[in-house]
Formats: sequence, structure tokens, C-alpha cells
Amino acid sequence: MKFGNPLAAALVITAATVLIVSYALHQPESALLVIIVYIATIIFLSIIVYFLSKIYSKHKSSVDPEDFVEICEDLNTEIAIWSDDFSLIIMNKKLRDLIGIDYEKYDKKEALFTAFGLTKENGEDIQKFIESPSYESTFRNSGGTVSIAWSTSPVKRRKKRSVFLSTGFNLTELKKMKNNLASANDFFKSSMELAEIGLLLSSDKKKFVASPEAAAMLGINSGTIDISVLRSMIHPNDRIHFERAVKYADASGNVNSIEMKIKGSGGAYRWYNFRYKSIIGTANTAPVFGGALLDVTQEHEKDILIERLAYIDEVTEISNRNKLMATGQELYDTCNVLSHSYWIIVLDIDRFHIVNDTCGYENGNYILKNFAHILYKFVTPGGIAARISGDNFALILKDYGDDDLPSRTARSIQDEFAKLAVDDFEAITLSCSAGFSKMPGDGNSFLDVMEHAEFALKSANGSQSTIIGYEPSMHDSIIGRNELEKALALAIKNNELQLFYQPKIDLKTDKIMGVEALIRWIKPDGTIIKPDSFVPVAESSHLIGKISEFVLNEGCRQNKLWQKMGYPNIVMSINFTSTDFYQADLKEKVLEALAKSKLDAKWLEVELTETLALSDIDFAVSQMNKLRELDVKLAMDDFGTGYSSLSYLQILPITLLKLDRSFITDIQHDNIAFEIVSAVIRIAKSKKIETIAEGIENKEQEEILRKAGCDYGQGYLYGKPMPAEKMNEFFEENAKINAGTKSGNN
Ligand code: C2E
Ligand code: MG
Ligand code: MG
Repeated sequence: MKFGNPLAAALVITAATVLIVSYALHQPESALLVIIVYIATIIFLSIIVYFLSKIYSKHKSSVDPEDFVEICEDLNTEIAIWSDDFSLIIMNKKLRDLIGIDYEKYDKKEALFTAFGLTKENGEDIQKFIESPSYESTFRNSGGTVSIAWSTSPVKRRKKRSVFLSTGFNLTELKKMKNNLASANDFFKSSMELAEIGLLLSSDKKKFVASPEAAAMLGINSGTIDISVLRSMIHPNDRIHFERAVKYADASGNVNSIEMKIKGSGGAYRWYNFRYKSIIGTANTAPVFGGALLDVTQEHEKDILIERLAYIDEVTEISNRNKLMATGQELYDTCNVLSHSYWIIVLDIDRFHIVNDTCGYENGNYILKNFAHILYKFVTPGGIAARISGDNFALILKDYGDDDLPSRTARSIQDEFAKLAVDDFEAITLSCSAGFSKMPGDGNSFLDVMEHAEFALKSANGSQSTIIGYEPSMHDSIIGRNELEKALALAIKNNELQLFYQPKIDLKTDKIMGVEALIRWIKPDGTIIKPDSFVPVAESSHLIGKISEFVLNEGCRQNKLWQKMGYPNIVMSINFTSTDFYQADLKEKVLEALAKSKLDAKWLEVELTETLALSDIDFAVSQMNKLRELDVKLAMDDFGTGYSSLSYLQILPITLLKLDRSFITDIQHDNIAFEIVSAVIRIAKSKKIETIAEGIENKEQEEILRKAGCDYGQGYLYGKPMPAEKMNEFFEENAKINAGTKSGNN
């Protein structure tokens, strides 16, 4: 029955029928009419009731309870319709499947209680269940534990029973996820603990949140640490890397890592690897900077051994060139980012090869080690001291705006180095020279800047104890030098070097007693270049060795040739620079030249300057003695221009003293010059050392010198330096004069 109440309709119809029948029995004449009217009325009423019921049902509900149950049946959520006396229990398919029961055979109340997480014992909790806006039930099915949050509302309330609609929300998956998340979190935590990884995170780069592991590493009690405190715990050398990490991380967004030493809980520095990243903030999220802190001290200790091999200089135990280049470039890169600047000082031990040759390898190493230690004292935080090669060192100092710092530091190093005593070699004076430049301004890379400091050092041109700062204008002269060097190298190859000879005359006999070999560079166009213009360049490069070898061999060869030509035996004097003279194999080279030319050693003389001999007197004496052992003569050139200490005449095994031209030039008018020259000649004679005067240009000078007892003379008066062929003529002339004198005398 789909409309109206059948009982009410039946009662109405029955009552109406009783009334009509009783009326028809009392008035039979009108009974037919009454019955017809009755039947018509019934039909009419039925039609009315039908339409009313239609209207009524429309107003009352759009869903029939059965339709409602049907709709619930297929809904994708757990639904139960039940009455509080449990006479009505309907569960939809979703709920039935979840409980996993054969619904027809199962006790419905038991099934409902299972779904609601109630038992017989706590059955009275059903009231709580109804009243709770969200009652969470848990039960087990074949798949495991199921959790449902129930929401219940009454749908019908009658005197005897109320009907409720319970809608479930399945929490099972959510709970699983939550549990997984919790265990992932636990796993993460214990992983961090096991791996001893600390986390440092910051949203403002001012305060860092430290994980318990990080807090333990850093030895801090609270879970937060200020960046300034953290910074102060980082080793000064590594702070720059940390600062760079914090500052840089923004831009890249990549994971990067740095290694730094941190003085943490143990009170001693330990090595940490800090892998960091920056996450840029959005409208909804704050920016985060942070990373993982891992104690890598042990690995580092192993690495130190490897690093020692790669980065530490074996002799001095300070950083080597590789380390310098790596650190230098790193510092160079930070300069632009952090607006820092650094000084690079390159240092060279003056005449170290001489020291090494004289004092031996052991003492040489001792000097290098001590030089490194001195250098190390001047290293400031963030800087480095390194041995670049041989006797070359470098020091990088942070610049704090004091432009005098590199010179002052280099001077202090020179002072300390000068104090260094080498056992058994007290007489050795130790000095060093320095060149410096500044980065990033003085070059496009660290190498560039360092090379400029080396340029500055080289520009001192072998002078000792120099300190020179790099200036871009230096390039001009250096480029000039380089070109000259190249041209000279080519000239040597093309045999453009030639020896000129200047006669030396015996003042007693006027006979030629010797010649001084003086080098000339004769260009293909005939231009003659004097030694003063190219010997210093040759001396500051490897070319001097080649030149000296040529002079030695050519001088000996020519002298022997003159002897063979029948000219009188004379002494061939050759000039030696410091580099030539202090060669360890000097004796061998001279011997070789003599052997090759078959010249007797007594016809060879080596000229040395005072400055050269006195720069390292012990070594000089030993080298001189070696030459004297061969019977080679030794002349002290330019005497009077250097130290001029006559006491050295006692020590140096020289055979001839050459009075410098400066004394001779005005000797006829300059009384003091005359007195000095006379005294020197007297003293030399007393030491059995012969004397020669340089630069005699006139007879007056010659006469004064002869009277003063000077043995020999050299100068334009007798002849300018000339080629060998011209010397042949000179020999002839000299022989004639002497013959003339002789015959005249006769
Ligand atoms: P030095 O050894 O003192 O040579 C003497 C210089 O004085 C020569 O200059 C010579 O030409 C110059 N001279 C000689 N007599 C007179 C004179 O009466 N008046 C004047 N005004 N000058 C005179 P030069 O040849 O130009 O040599 C200059 C210096 O170059 C030499 O000084 C020597 O130290 C160096 N030198 C020359 N040849 C060689 C060489 O083969 N090897 C090395 N290492 N140095 C050399
Ligand atoms: Mg000379
Ligand atoms: Mg001279």
C-alpha cells in the first residue's frame, strides 16, 4: 500500500455502509436512490483520498525508507541503521564487508557491536556511543585491525524504540600511515643517533636549532645556538669557509659541503663535515638554511697522512706548492665574495746555492727548515706559509688595510733569518729577498698574483736583502729584459759573442805581460755592445754559464794560439761573476779548458771583485785555493770600490791586486788618491802580492804609479780592448818597441 492509511479508510467506508443500510431498511421506497448516491459518494471519496494521499506523500518524504536502505546499501561509507531495542539492524554492504561476516548467518546484534567496538561487557556504553560526536571503534578482521570513527544521529523516536543512523569513517589506512610516519621518524631519529649525525637548522641565519646529536657534538645544553657562538667555536682558519657557506647557500640551492675544525664538547678541535643546503622561502614557508654535521676526525687523521704526501713539503714540513696553489686560489675566490684582500710575499734565500755548496746538503736543509719555521711564525689566521721550490718560499697574509704590512713582515723575517747560526759556519751571513703583491687586485687568478710577486722579486736583479712590491709598470722593464734575454740567447747560438783583449804592461820593462779578455756582443750589422749592457741580464738568467764557458775556453785557446804563433808568453785574465765563481765544479771546468787548449795553468788568471769574494769569504777562499792548486793566478779586480779592507789580503790567496780606475783617473792631482794607492802598493808588496793599475790614460799617471812601485799598468795609454787580430799587431809593435829600447839601451 502506497498511499493513505488502509485502516482509517476501511473504518470510514464501514461506518458509511452501516448508516446507509439502516436508512434503507427504515425507508425502503428511497433505498435504491440512497444506495446509488452512496456508491457514487464512495467512488468520489476514493478519488479524493487518492489525490490527497498523493499530495500528502509528496510532502511527507521524497525517499521511501526502503529506498533509503537501498541507497545506503551501495554507499562507499560504512552505514548502520539500528534501533535501540536492536529489533532493527541494517548494515550496508561496505560495513558488512569490513566486518567480514556472512551477514545472513551472523547474529546481527553481535555484528553491530563488533562494528561499534562494543562487547557484551561494555554494551551499556552504547549510550556513550550515541552521544559521542565521533566514537572511535576498533576491531579485527581478516586483514588486521580496523578503526572506524562513528557519528550517530537519531532518525526516529517512538515511545518504545528509537532508530539511529550511524555513519562510519574508516581510519584504518590513516592510522597505518600515521604509524608508518611515526616509525619513519623513529627510524630517522635512531639513524641519526647511530650515524652520529647532528642537524643544524636556521630560518634566519642568526640562530640555529641543533638536534640532540648536534648539541652533544657542540657541547651545548640548549637546543639552539647563536651563529656568533657557533662561529667562535670554529677554528679561525675555517671560519671563512663557514661564512661563505652561510652567505653562498642562498644563491645555489644545491647541497654543498665544507670541512671545518670545531672546538666542541671535548674542548679540543675536531674535524666536522658540514653538508648544507638552503631552501628559499615562499609566501607560505620560511627560508631554511642548515645541514648535517658529521664528525670526520678519524677519517681526517687518515687523510692527514695522505695530505702530508700530497701537500706537505718533506724537508721543511710546511705546505708545498700544491697546497699553496689550492689554498691561494680558494682565498682568491673568497676575496670578491667577502670583500677580503690578501698579501702574497714570495721569498728567496740569497745565494742559497752557494750556502748549499759550501756548507753541505745537511746544513742546507737545516737552513731551509729554519727559514720555514721563521716564516711560519708570521702566518696569521686564514693565511699560509709554503715552500714553493728550492729556496723559494711564499707567505699569504690577510690584508687589514695596512700597506706597510708586507714590507714590515719581510724585514722581520730578514732580521730573524740573519740571526740564524749555522754550526761551524759562523761566518756565513744569511739573507733573503722578497717580492710581494696583493690579491685580488694584482692579477686575474691566484697564480697571476703570485707570478707578479715573483716578478717583483726578480726585478731586484740578484741584489741581496731586497724587498720590492709589485707595480704594473714593472712589466715594461721586465718585458724589455725578457726580450734582451731572448736576443742574447740567440746571439750566443749565432756566435755573435767575441772576446776583445786589452794589454797589460809591465811598468818596469814596458813589455806586454798579459791581456784581459773582455767580452763584446757584435751584432750582424757590426754594432758592438759592451758587457755592462748584457752581462747583468745574463747573470740573472742561465745564460751567464754559457758566456763564461765560452770566455774560459776561448781565452785559453787564444793564448795558446799566440804562444804557438811565437809571441811572448803572457797571462790571459778572464772575469768571473759570482755565479761562475761559486760553482761547485769550478776547478773541473777550469781544468777541462786548460786541458782542451793545452795551455799551462800559470798563463791563466781569474779576476774576481772584492764584493764577490767577500760575500762568502770562506767559500771564496776554498774556491780560490782550488784554483791556486792548479797554479791558476788570481787577481782582485776593482780594488778600492768594495769593502777595501786590507786585512782581507791576509786571508785571500790572491796573486795580483788591481787598483780601481777611480783612484787612477785623477791621481796626478788628487793627493789622497795618491796616498791610498801608494799605501796599498806597499802593503801588497809586503804580502808578496803584485799590483796593477787600471785605467792609465796618460804618461803622467803611468809615471806616478811606476814611482809608487806599481808593477803593471792597463789602460787606453797602451791600448783599448781589441779583437785578437789587432792584438797580433800589438804584439808585433810591442816587440819592436822593446827591441828598439833594447838596441837603444845597447
Ligand atoms: P773590468 O774587469 O774592470 O774591465 C775593465 C774595464 O775598464 C773594461 O770595460 C775596459 O774597457 C775599461 N777600461 C780599461 N782601460 C780603460 C781606460 O784607460 N779608460 C777607461 N775609461 N776605461 C778603461 P769593459 O770592457 O766595458 O768591461 C766592463 C766590465 O765588464 C769589466 O770590468 C768586467 O767587470 C765586465 N766584463 C767584461 N768582460 C767580461 C766577461 O767576459 N765576463 C764577465 N763576467 N764580465 C766581463
Ligand atoms: Mg776585470
Ligand atoms: Mg776592473
